[in-house]
Amino acid sequence: MARVEFKNIVKVYEDEKRGSFTAVKGSSFVIEDREFVVFVGPSGCGKTTSLRMIAGLERQTSGDIRIGERVVNDLHPKDRDIAMVFQDYALYPHMTIAENLSFGLRNLKRPKDEIERKVKEASSILGLGDMLSRKPRELSGGQRQRVAVGRAIVRDPQVFLFDEPLSNLDAKLRIQMRVELAELHKRLGATIVYVTHDQVEAMTLGERIVVMNEGEIQQIASPTELYNKPNNMFVAGFIGSPAMNFIDARIGGGQALLAGGTAFPLPEAAARALGAYEGKPIVLGVRPEHIYGEAMAPDRAGSAKLEAHVQVVEQLGAESLVYFRVGERMVTARVHPELPVALGARQTFVLDAAKLHWFDPQTEQRIV
Ligand code: ATP
Repeated sequence: MARVEFKNIVKVYEDEKRGSFTAVKGSSFVIEDREFVVFVGPSGCGKTTSLRMIAGLERQTSGDIRIGERVVNDLHPKDRDIAMVFQDYALYPHMTIAENLSFGLRNLKRPKDEIERKVKEASSILGLGDMLSRKPRELSGGQRQRVAVGRAIVRDPQVFLFDEPLSNLDAKLRIQMRVELAELHKRLGATIVYVTHDQVEAMTLGERIVVMNEGEIQQIASPTELYNKPNNMFVAGFIGSPAMNFIDARIGGGQALLAGGTAFPLPEAAARALGAYEGKPIVLGVRPEHIYGEAMAPDRAGSAKLEAHVQVVEQLGAESLVYFRVGERMVTARVHPELPVALGARQTFVLDAAKLHWFDPQTEQRIV
């Protein structure tokens, strides 16, 4: 069993400039055996620190970490049965690919035939068979990344830890490597913990995603759950691209009254859940892809209509992004490229009534 558990983990760094700085503020979670879990969040949120504490490269200030059945708080990294793949690959430049792959096993003084077998297996899984006698500098970025992954595979660890492994690759290669990593996970059936600041990477790779901000876990959920039911405005704005729009609103007599003057009847379920907000400010969240031009709105979208002056239109080929202002806030709609849009004109948009999110403006938590 290679589950990983964090129990009330706190990490305080002592820093000359900042003094004591709490980078992780009491994290608890369980990563199940064979699960692919992604830590995601903006720069400085504590994701790398969390990963390094699993590896044993950083010691938590308090709390317990378990890998499998063992509490590993006091175990040296090499005794934790994990393998880590870094952003910069960390290959040995003077060694061949075969030597790079076998380095860890040679250090462990494993029998020669076992080393050969494992190197052969890993290189065939990763398509590195033809490159074993080359040096790292004779490989492309993607191939080097594969060697770094191969080095982890040959160790046959309980848990794989990936620290932004694709960030040095160009966009096209990143997409290709993403597919390869997802396939690799299926094939190895291993527990993988993966750090990225890229929400698209998190959504495509993670079976579950841990969203972090400023040292605190905001939500742990599957990609679809994060997208459909974000816990709060941070998660709502972080997951999805372009980001979810927030519109200032009030609830009154079963209607939503939006900043700027438009009103529409609330769907029944929302009206019930929002009863306590009657007459009070509230924030409406709506994703760009759930706003349609009136001429092309599907029937199910309902009667949540909004009129606004179109300010900017970006034609992206497969879709257009239309920008307009509602009250103080700029709103983005991701519409069909053939929707007739006139710059500066007043136009009616339809919000998909089944896809609206409502947040408390004070706590920023989801209401419904
Ligand atoms: P990034 O995406 O930029 O790598 P991250 O989410 O991985 O960010 P961490 O590297 O975990 O963030 O850092 C979390 C916070 O802890 C940051 O504010 C960082 O400056 C601070 N920090 C990290 N390592 C140390 C250290 N050794 N000493 C002092 N502060 C540190």
